[in-house]
Amino acid sequence: MITTIINARIFDGEQLIQDQTVVIDGDQISAVGGPVPAGSTIIDARGATLLPGLIDAHVHTSVDGLRAALTFGVTTELEMQGSWTSAGREQLAGRDDIADVRSSGLAITAPDGHPHELFPGDGPPPGVSAEDIERHAHEPQAVSTPPEAVAFVDRQVANGADYIKIMIEEGTVLGAPGLPMPSQDIIVAAVEAAHRHGKMAIAHVLTASTSLQAVDAGMNGLAHVFMDVPHTPEIVAAIVASGVFVTPCLCLNSSIIGNTGAELAADPRVSSRLSPEWMGTLCGSFAKYPQGNLDEVMATVLALHRAGVDILVGTDVSVPLPFLGGLAHGASVHHELQLLVKAGLTPVEALRAATSVPARRFGLTDRGRIIAGARADLLLVEGDPTTTISDTLSIRDVWRRGVRLASRS
Ligand SMILES: [Zn+2]
Repeated sequence: MITTIINARIFDGEQLIQDQTVVIDGDQISAVGGPVPAGSTIIDARGATLLPGLIDAHVHTSVDGLRAALTFGVTTELEMQGSWTSAGREQLAGRDDIADVRSSGLAITAPDGHPHELFPGDGPPPGVSAEDIERHAHEPQAVSTPPEAVAFVDRQVANGADYIKIMIEEGTVLGAPGLPMPSQDIIVAAVEAAHRHGKMAIAHVLTASTSLQAVDAGMNGLAHVFMDVPHTPEIVAAIVASGVFVTPCLCLNSSIIGNTGAELAADPRVSSRLSPEWMGTLCGSFAKYPQGNLDEVMATVLALHRAGVDILVGTDVSVPLPFLGGLAHGASVHHELQLLVKAGLTPVEALRAATSVPARRFGLTDRGRIIAGARADLLLVEGDPTTTISDTLSIRDVWRRGVRLASRS
């Protein structure tokens, strides 16, 4: 079956292009520009903009999370601790009603280290299944020595991990100062083990000092931006020189400071796509570090971007618990795009951060671009998000691997 989208403004993952026609043949984009193939189903996109499906480069997810993400045009979620390694996602093969996923498997952490401090009390809170808790909020296996770190990485890779995640969290901005974290020799051993397997090593870091530890250890990516101090020329230079990408997750920083996602949730384009439990979660917040300054964090992101660091859109959305709130699968990607533009990226730069840049950094060569031969992961929105970023929420159509998602609103 062939579908041809005509009269579209096309953002190809890098820039707006002159062509206005995209041909979808099966699960692939077969042509950009050129004639309309005979017998194809025509979709007239006049007034709308076609984008590559969006990529969230920091989640902890579930089938429900992947389904919700797709309704917001997020066609790929990259999990930074969880169960959806290549072994874990075998059960998802052939499904086109949910977003695609890659995963680190379990993250390396210290005994009683992050994210242990986020889950106090006994048993799952109301509305959350024990299965959710087990799958997504379980403590990662703790590591105490460099050889244990190497063995841990080997196990994740054997289980199909797409990259390796390492928690370097000392608790400052999460209301748990003094939290145990792995020693630098453990971190270095884990990074070297990941690299021996040809895998990227990605660090959870929320402070400047742990960010420096991560880049010193040879990390490939930072899954957050530091938020404890303003940036300095020295730390920006160290991050640039290391070549890491940075996935700021500004929507999480905002939540940690105590801001909820209530303003986003009030947008009918968001609320119409969210379940009551996710609406409740989006209207919650982490609220662990009220002394934080979001303007300062946004200035750090802009400084890193201007210095040439690859910035990726990510959210750190996980399970529907209000104390992990201010976030919702899919919806928060649009929030993050808006925050990046508020920080000073242009709308086109923000859109690259959710499409071609994460695809390139994660080696997902089949997606993130609208080019002939790419996987047909596409998002069609009313208006022009290359000038008005919030237009990404005016979702008209979503295709996942060439399969058109039934319209929900
Ligand atoms: Zn996370």
